[in-house]
Amino acid sequence: MAVVPILEIPHPILRKRATKIRKIDKGILKTAYDMVDTLQASGGVGLAANQIGNLKRIIVVKTPEIDTTKIYFNPEIIYREGQRTVEEGCLSIPGYKGFITRSVTIRFGAIDHTHKTIKINADELLAQILEHEVDHLNGILFSDHLQKHEKLIPIDYDEELQQDEELNINSDNSISDLPSSIDT
Ligand SMILES: [Zn+2]
Repeated sequence: MAVVPILEIPHPILRKRATKIRKIDKGILKTAYDMVDTLQASGGVGLAANQIGNLKRIIVVKTPEIDTTKIYFNPEIIYREGQRTVEEGCLSIPGYKGFITRSVTIRFGAIDHTHKTIKINADELLAQILEHEVDHLNGILFSDHLQKHEKLIPIDYDEELQQDEELNINSDNSISDLPSSIDT
């Protein structure tokens, strides 16, 4: 297994729709394990196959609370509920972040690396990551959800702390509860 390069905008593959996997063969598993290694090396929380130049419906997810990186084939958002404002970034749009609207809770389905069909309810960071990664498989980037393009904010790492304090004062709990940097 290997760490592979992560494609960045404006690479055209990031705008393509990934195709459904019919059979989880060795090639698909190898891609998935490369994605696990690549995500772990990046320090991000999620990665979609488009981001390494592969147009199969594969995502990998690693939240701070879990030790292992999860692999999901043919993932889908079955339903979404509620709206909240979240801060988001993307490994394919390095150096930028923005505030966008995501769902409060989702129901998510996929096939895992043992070929088992799974269905889970997710909220908080996990719901955000799953929505972000399934978007990638449909050629959608988080920046598409910005209300205005100017709202894509350059990440100034020196000011991160100060900005976090301001956000807390401005009191949107859904924002201040999140880690300061979410790259997926
Ligand atoms: Zn991303």
